[in-house]
Amino acid sequence: MAGDSLNLFLISYNKTISPVLEYHLISSILLNGICMCWTYMGYFDSYYHKIMPGKAREQGESMTKKCFRNFTLLDTRNGVCRENMTMIIAADKIIALAADADIQAINKSDTDIIDCTGKYIMPGLCNAHVHIMFTGEKLPSVSFFNPKLVQFLAGLPLIRNMLMKKRKKVLKTSLDSGITVLRVLGDVNWGDVKIRDEINSGKIFGPHLFVAGRSITPVGGHGEGMSYIVGSEAEARAAVKDLHSHRVDCIKVLQTKGVTDADDVDSAGGPIMPVAVLAAIADEARKYNIPVTAHSENKESVRECVECGINVEHGAEIDEDTVLMMKEKGLFYCPTVLAPRVYLENPPEITGLNDMQIQASAVVEQKIADGLQAVIKYSQKHFGSKNCLIIAGTDAGIPMSWHDEFARELIFYVDDFGLTPMEAIQTATYNAGLALNIADQYGCLEAGKWADFLIFAENPLDNLKLLLEPSQFEVWCQGMKVIKN
Ligand SMILES: [Zn+2]
Repeated sequence: MAGDSLNLFLISYNKTISPVLEYHLISSILLNGICMCWTYMGYFDSYYHKIMPGKAREQGESMTKKCFRNFTLLDTRNGVCRENMTMIIAADKIIALAADADIQAINKSDTDIIDCTGKYIMPGLCNAHVHIMFTGEKLPSVSFFNPKLVQFLAGLPLIRNMLMKKRKKVLKTSLDSGITVLRVLGDVNWGDVKIRDEINSGKIFGPHLFVAGRSITPVGGHGEGMSYIVGSEAEARAAVKDLHSHRVDCIKVLQTKGVTDADDVDSAGGPIMPVAVLAAIADEARKYNIPVTAHSENKESVRECVECGINVEHGAEIDEDTVLMMKEKGLFYCPTVLAPRVYLENPPEITGLNDMQIQASAVVEQKIADGLQAVIKYSQKHFGSKNCLIIAGTDAGIPMSWHDEFARELIFYVDDFGLTPMEAIQTATYNAGLALNIADQYGCLEAGKWADFLIFAENPLDNLKLLLEPSQFEVWCQGMKVIKN
């Protein structure tokens, strides 16, 4: 496969390569890319349509109204179940949702009636931290690559098409798993922006996407291959301006080091972006009203983020004042408990991590646990709610974090951090609606909101593992039933 040869090429390429060899490698990749892309373009285009369900009419769904009668609603706004409910949808919206007895006589001539007696309906899920150009398969360690080379390769038409194919496959896997909203935190070549626009315009069918495009990282920072590398406040502001011109929905900052780029165990999650640069990003983004979120893995950096008005990904120990400030500023914490765990539970031949990176994963796992416990504890103390600052994300796409294992994150919240199943589901529905600023359309099922929901034969609150079994529930997105693979 072309993807495997690219991986082999990337593994063999490192900064010690001779300039002559580099010239020949790049020239041959370029020429091969130009020639092969013409050959493969048609193949990939036809393949895309097989892996995505296609537009509404291609799915064979009529646009008549649908009435789902007499089900138990998982009310994620209020955190309760409501029995004997009925919901009517038209096109991609819910037009009525109330107790069955309160719904007025339904005109059967223009409405399909679907009896849901004994069934349970909840909103579609949101995975708030994903990378859709990666499936979760093993990748060569990005820290070995020259970032310019990565960006150059990713721009070749052949590679661009391969990545687009991967993105569409990932979105289909996510939809089948009940994920109807994804926040995409880092991509290359604006592939995430392109696919979002294709979905929004109805060209293809897919989940709702909120995309960050290219990340922003400091010199020597995490994820240089897919980021603007900024060395000053002026460069940081220029990056935000450029992101705005590419119409991103949010901005992803790589504020600290991570697992794969730690120089030693002590530097895992260590600070690297100067606070003045971070503040410049936040200030510039405010001018365009674009929310910012940061990969931030140590206590001081998390505090800096919150002071600047930036949301937190992964996290570390968080003090009481910082939790209060998060709530006051309307910020959210996305802990991604699953991300370091997949590195620790799989052998190195599968993850591609060396010994030091495995130890760094354990360090980051503990920081995340500390952060999540602190947020739960202080939220409960001050706001009477354990989960009000938490949104669920898994960093799906990194090696071994699969897009169909999102519910594992929710199960961790229950088993290891003491949330109830409903509180865990709220982090992936209601809270996500607030955090992504789409609460008027998403987060709970009510009249006027998106017709994105899941139907179960059993109550998922009794067994969250049902969410890991796509055969156990129906997924409806944009008012259409998803045809699963
Ligand atoms: Zn990530």
